[in-house]
Amino acid sequence: MEWSAKMSEKEGVIKFKYDLHYSDSAVRPADVSEIDAGRSTLFDMGGIGVDRTGIGYGNISRLISRKNGKSTFLITGSQTGGFARLTEKHYTIIDEYDISKFYVRARGMVAPSSESLTHAMLYDLSDEVRWIAHIHDEVIWEYMVRNNLPSTDESAYGTSELAMCVKNIYNGMDPFSSNAFAMLGHRPGIVSFGRDMGEAINPILMYLRDAIIESFDDF
Ligand SMILES: [Zn+2]
Repeated sequence: MEWSAKMSEKEGVIKFKYDLHYSDSAVRPADVSEIDAGRSTLFDMGGIGVDRTGIGYGNISRLISRKNGKSTFLITGSQTGGFARLTEKHYTIIDEYDISKFYVRARGMVAPSSESLTHAMLYDLSDEVRWIAHIHDEVIWEYMVRNNLPSTDESAYGTSELAMCVKNIYNGMDPFSSNAFAMLGHRPGIVSFGRDMGEAINPILMYLRDAIIESFDDF
């Protein structure tokens, strides 16, 4: 019985709920050109892709608008990790979200990424956050952990605990002074964010470069 209790606990963590309002006009080609340029950089370095078991990983989003502290944002759809370049068919708009219920309401032609709520937490963190990238990269992840760069707890993934962790990391500091964190409970997940796309992607590229330099020091 203990086993089944553990199973349902685990399922509870990953159970992501969404409603999709199907619309072929919600996302326009012009909406995706800039975000897909950023995504292609991350795809080309392997931060977004498909793992050996065929599961897509990595996603990117951008803010569309903010009203009463709640954000509307554009994000890559579920299982789009394998495509080198995306179009408006592969992006969806998150109109509403509830982090405690692990729920989002989306509009577009594709189901939202199951990690949409991780993005929502970051939009909630600061009014200035406009771009968010989530990648998987073992080299950068290990580099960040080794160098005590910001990270979320091992126990926190896909729950409101993660939101608490993110708040704690940036409590009392300018979030843009260290705008990326490693997810210890979601190895090798990394989240970075910025006021523009360059700022959101920059830590990923910088840490990758620094990790390579550090690896040469070992010789
Ligand atoms: Zn992930």
